[in-house]
Amino acid sequence: MGKLIDGKAIAAGMRKEMASQVAELEAKGVTPGLAVVLVGEDPASRVYVSMKNKACAETGIFSDEYKLPGETTQEELLGLIEKLNNDSRIDGILVQLPLPKQIDEKVVLDAISPFKDVDGFHPYNVGRLVTGSPVFQPCTPFGVMKMLEATGVELAGKDVVIIGRSNIVGKPVALMCLAASATVTICHSRTENLPEKVGRADVVIAAVGRPEMIKGAWIKPGAVVIDVGVNRVGEKKLVGDVEFEAAKERASAITPVPGGVGPMTITMLLFNTLESAKGRASQQ
Ligand code: NDP
Repeated sequence: MGKLIDGKAIAAGMRKEMASQVAELEAKGVTPGLAVVLVGEDPASRVYVSMKNKACAETGIFSDEYKLPGETTQEELLGLIEKLNNDSRIDGILVQLPLPKQIDEKVVLDAISPFKDVDGFHPYNVGRLVTGSPVFQPCTPFGVMKMLEATGVELAGKDVVIIGRSNIVGKPVALMCLAASATVTICHSRTENLPEKVGRADVVIAAVGRPEMIKGAWIKPGAVVIDVGVNRVGEKKLVGDVEFEAAKERASAITPVPGGVGPMTITMLLFNTLESAKGRASQQ
């Protein structure tokens, strides 16, 4: 049976280390600051924003929360972003998605200063990742890489198979694995012979959003399995994209859902904010 990759424990260790680095910066007169912008009343977004604020507070990061009404115009939101871009207390800006339909998400994300883009979605940061000189890397795939590192998985020369090609997870994690010298295959909804491709992988990274579609029997014995998927089945149960019970019998290491990749995402948001604040401190 495979080892469980405990995202909660890895995240907790990183947050503890970050809290002491925040304290060191404080001593130099720099408090890392994250602005969190929420537009409208989406209940899931409200939960995510409050989790982010709580995580900031626990780490000593100052979080500045902006709750705007659902009828906010694009111009008003762009005005706030401009103000935050120029606010010297703010090291990172996070605009919670999705935005209401009168606002063009792309225009808003592009307006965030690339040097405060702690979500790593600005074309500047995407370009830096593509060219192998990343500044801010997107939080979920960055968290996946940290988990692999913490588990001692060496990627160089390994076959990594990623299922999913979104801009948020699949594509950036593929670039990060490539930068780590893995041989990368990206699969998607048009991929043929998916079981055969997954069966060749030393490392499987699933980011699809379909409950347990990656079957345990597809996994090569000894492979490492990272399950990014979060799918609600029934009232309360959450499952990943991988058939966990069967896959864990074949894998050498596997992430659970929940308690795997999930806790890493916010941790990497804090990490990016702290890195940004270190940059500010070094310029003082
Ligand atoms: P998207 O819906 O943007 O992308 C899903 C990808 O899966 C697409 O590339 C799609 O292919 C591919 N796909 C869909 N069906 C199949 C199939 N039958 N066979 C192979 N590939 C398929 O999702 P995200 O990348 O945003 O998220 C993926 C999952 O990760 C979700 O469950 C989401 O909730 C979770 N997630 C978890 C996070 C965390 O913090 N733990 C953070 C972000 C996401 P195509 O491009 O061809 O349509």
